[in-house]
Amino acid sequence: TMALFSSQKYEQTSFDACLKDQTDIKLTHFEQSLDAQTAILCQGFDAVCVFVNDVVDKTVIKQLAHNGIKCILLRCAGFNNVDLAAANAHNIKVCRVPAYSPEAVAEHCIALMLTLNRKTHKAYNRIREDNFDLNGLLGFNLFKKTIGVIGCGKIGLALVNILNGFGANVLVCDPYATEGNYTLCDIDTLLTQSDVISLHCPLNESTHHLIDETAFSKMKTGVMLINTSRGALVDSKACISALKSKKLGYLGLDVYEQESELFFKDRRDEIMQDDIFSRLVSFPNVLVTGHQGFFTKEALTEIAQTTINNAIEFANN
Ligand code: NAD
Repeated sequence: TMALFSSQKYEQTSFDACLKDQTDIKLTHFEQSLDAQTAILCQGFDAVCVFVNDVVDKTVIKQLAHNGIKCILLRCAGFNNVDLAAANAHNIKVCRVPAYSPEAVAEHCIALMLTLNRKTHKAYNRIREDNFDLNGLLGFNLFKKTIGVIGCGKIGLALVNILNGFGANVLVCDPYATEGNYTLCDIDTLLTQSDVISLHCPLNESTHHLIDETAFSKMKTGVMLINTSRGALVDSKACISALKSKKLGYLGLDVYEQESELFFKDRRDEIMQDDIFSRLVSFPNVLVTGHQGFFTKEALTEIAQTTINNAIEFANN
């Protein structure tokens, strides 16, 4: 039996489709996020299934263990929201979905890049007002531009493959990457030479605020930064300064530092009043989407199927 938190209607559909021939697994959907208040709902289940915004820290894990949970199934690749040491200490197994259509996230990066660059979001609004003026919509070609990809794992590599099709000059910085259809370089070279920078490394202690004031100071003036990885890779305050000084010409975010807090509807007004996030989105050259990089039919099916396979493996061991 599995309690699925932060459950959305679209997920129920994809899980139902994958569970069709699977009678051994009983799934209960909870719309609420998992946190210290809602952990009580886990009583009587063998496993919990969570997403990126669920809180699975030391306190919650202690409650899960107390409620008899033996497995945490993540419906995502990143696991920075889970205290793995605490799970291990309580003998709770943690599984994730390491890969679900990396192309979905890579294609969303391209959507952010091209929308910002060609200003199609502004054009969309203008045309609806019967305004066909091109002033302010001037873009640039990606062809022959230098595009820096930080982190060349599954998503980074899918992006590199698309960018090669654009005829861009692709730089990659990744301590574990081997030779490929790109130029491998160190982070400083990437920061100084790139016209567009896209982040695809995981969030951990060494990558927290990887893009800070110092990193911005090394970049070209008017650079475009895209983050579809994890919000805290970028120091939001440094971002605002870089936007003000026009060092940062374009910013595309699918993830941002206060994402988990913003996800909780009751805290949204409080956060939006005084916060860095509302200042960030007030810049016209900033485009934000709400963690939808993964959100394609193909990826949802892969997430549901891998989660069910993980649950079966857990149950059989
Ligand atoms: P991956 O593990 O396949 O690749 C990550 C790469 O980053 C690895 O090659 C690793 O060597 C590299 N790396 C690690 N530390 C680095 C550093 N300091 N500098 C440069 N490179 C470094 O992961 P992936 O599947 O490609 O996913 C990347 C990230 O994308 C995940 O961590 C997750 O946070 C995020 N993600 C976002 C969405 C979304 O919907 N927006 C969906 C899935 C994943």
